[in-house]
Amino acid sequence: MKFSTQLNKTISQQARDLIDRGLDRHIRLAVTGLSGAGKTALLTGLLEQLLYANDSQNLPFWQVKQQQRLIGSRLVPSEHWSVARFDYEAAVAALTAEPGRWPHSTRDVSEIRLEIKYKPAGGLASKLSEQRKLTLDLIDYPGEWLLDLPMLEQSYQQWSEQQSRLMQQQPRRDIFSGWLKRLQESQHNSQDDDAALRRLAEDYRQQLQRCKTEFGLYFLQPGRHLLPGELADAPALDFFPWPQQLRLSNRWQQQLQEKYDYYQQQVIKPFYKNYFQGFNRQIILVDLLTALETGEAALSELKLAVSELMKSFQYGNNPLFRRLLAPQIDKVALVASKADHVSPDQHPAMRQLLAQLLQGSRQQLEFNQIQHQLFSVAGIAVSKPGQLNDGTKVLDGVIADQQPVRVGAPPVPDSWPNQQQWQQGFAYPRFYPAFTMAQSPLPHMRLDQLLDYMLGDKLR
Ligand code: GDP
Repeated sequence: MKFSTQLNKTISQQARDLIDRGLDRHIRLAVTGLSGAGKTALLTGLLEQLLYANDSQNLPFWQVKQQQRLIGSRLVPSEHWSVARFDYEAAVAALTAEPGRWPHSTRDVSEIRLEIKYKPAGGLASKLSEQRKLTLDLIDYPGEWLLDLPMLEQSYQQWSEQQSRLMQQQPRRDIFSGWLKRLQESQHNSQDDDAALRRLAEDYRQQLQRCKTEFGLYFLQPGRHLLPGELADAPALDFFPWPQQLRLSNRWQQQLQEKYDYYQQQVIKPFYKNYFQGFNRQIILVDLLTALETGEAALSELKLAVSELMKSFQYGNNPLFRRLLAPQIDKVALVASKADHVSPDQHPAMRQLLAQLLQGSRQQLEFNQIQHQLFSVAGIAVSKPGQLNDGTKVLDGVIADQQPVRVGAPPVPDSWPNQQQWQQGFAYPRFYPAFTMAQSPLPHMRLDQLLDYMLGDKLR
């Protein structure tokens, strides 16, 4: 009798193991977007909802929670010891400080691991096992790094030609004019080539930074010039594109070429091999509202940059990209961020504008049979929408000096704005976090829909 109970136990354990192995028990979900898109805030918000889901009243569309199958989640150490851990605790500490601050933005790749325990939804698995565990790695990395992918197919000469063409258009022509002069002078006068190239590369980097911060440009290469990660100050970054209107000395030609080749082989490729190849699912964040505020040129650049970035998910028939990307990614969420800058009735417009911006890339995803969906979310919602008696939509929040304010909720165009709209311009309020720890899980908008799309099928 005792023996047969033992045997039954062993058989059921074996059956359980078999099912476990047959099911996906581990998923690597990556979050990216250009700097300032809201990656840090989104990851913090996702972690808040995942870790404290059972305390939340605001996850109606996350089915595992609504069906009362979610047992709980906890942080566990990651196995990837060489990758920085996403500093969730520091992010929450900043958001709940007095006065509240936004956490530091993404500068490098980082990740964090959770275990989610849940009850299976039904069928054979639910009879055999009371509970299951999903290991979830969340990875945060700068979208700028994906902008470098096309460089792998370009020689230094081809890349320089492309960048020179860009530099001849405004506002880049003005931005780079001083750098161009200094480059010309250095080539004639320099005694020390190494030092001159280093100085000019740093100068070029500063102009790229100005393109971003002063002019809202997004299509900026090489990506590591803006977000170097562990390569900050490394000689690997001492290169820049050669302006085609200038003659290049043979000495400099060779040095720049060598650095460019190194960058292709030792910086761009390893990122794809060591990180990207392992991702199963991807969230791509796009900050439409800041581009709308900056103006038409910025929105055009955002469209160009995000379309370039999306090429990493469109390996298609390109043998180099196919080998390098070796894609595992089967689902992509295209997400308009900071949705709490507007009232919820504008969220469909945000998604429509995003859909229009990414039309070509979405077709490519379909062609590659990668599922995708559009979302509008706030990782951390710092404003509360409301409505006055006359129907006016308003937003309540606090501004920089912690003063509470109420502002009229601004509209979002649901397609590319016309000239009149551009002339009127767009402006969105900047609210600050003002939370206490007791408010955890911190408020969000539509993260439940995002979680359900990204993880729902793995939590059945
Ligand atoms: P990252 O560079 O992609 O990591 O961007 P961050 O997450 O650091 O966000 C950049 C800035 O955008 C923050 O400092 C906030 O000012 C703002 N932001 C990001 N997410 C949200 C959000 O969900 N709501 C609001 N209102 N602002 C946000």
